[in-house]
Amino acid sequence: MARSRSHEMNAELETQGITLSHQVINGKRVIFRVATCTQCQSTEENRFGADFPPDAVIKRFKNSGWTFGKRTLCRSCSTPAAKPRPTVPTHQKDETMTTPHAAKPAPAAKAPPPPAQPLAASPVRTPTIAEVVRIVEKLDMVFSDGRYRNGHSDDTIARELNIPRAVVAKVREESPHHGPIQLDPEVVKLREDVDAFQAMHIEAGKMLDELRGRLVKLEGQR
Ligand SMILES: [Zn+2]
Repeated sequence: MARSRSHEMNAELETQGITLSHQVINGKRVIFRVATCTQCQSTEENRFGADFPPDAVIKRFKNSGWTFGKRTLCRSCSTPAAKPRPTVPTHQKDETMTTPHAAKPAPAAKAPPPPAQPLAASPVRTPTIAEVVRIVEKLDMVFSDGRYRNGHSDDTIARELNIPRAVVAKVREESPHHGPIQLDPEVVKLREDVDAFQAMHIEAGKMLDELRGRLVKLEGQR
């Protein structure tokens, strides 16, 4: 159940150029969502609970300056100053006008965007055959039974081969001999419980605040 739901969420986020990544931190598997810029291929990762809703994930990235839509753009590629053309789709419900990064100096010295623009439907670009071969060779060495070994990850492969991590993840997910990272079911269950309790905790906190507010008001009237 939870598995297919998280698959749906992953698919939904992938259409926005956000992929899933698991990392081992202090011996614990941790879920990250990685946004990859379709223009400059830079990435940003944020840590989320397994069941964190996709729209909330997207909101968090938006808050740090990313834009989503036909293309997924990082903060620097999103700022109008960095754009050659002023063709900005007018989706500006921007509550994040306070971002202090607009005053960044001269992005002009940056390398031009890669010539091949990815198709709008799939922000994670399609790997070349040569890249697939290199990634699969590497995966054969460090990935088996749904797990990376010895501290390897999509990220380490991406760095080693100088290929965007989203592309590495895509190749791994689609590779018949490798496929999705299999989480320890016990860990997944525990993570879900933690998330559920956290949600309850937040809810209880709100109720407590409300009750306190009412109490203070009442006390003021007597
Ligand atoms: Zn960018």
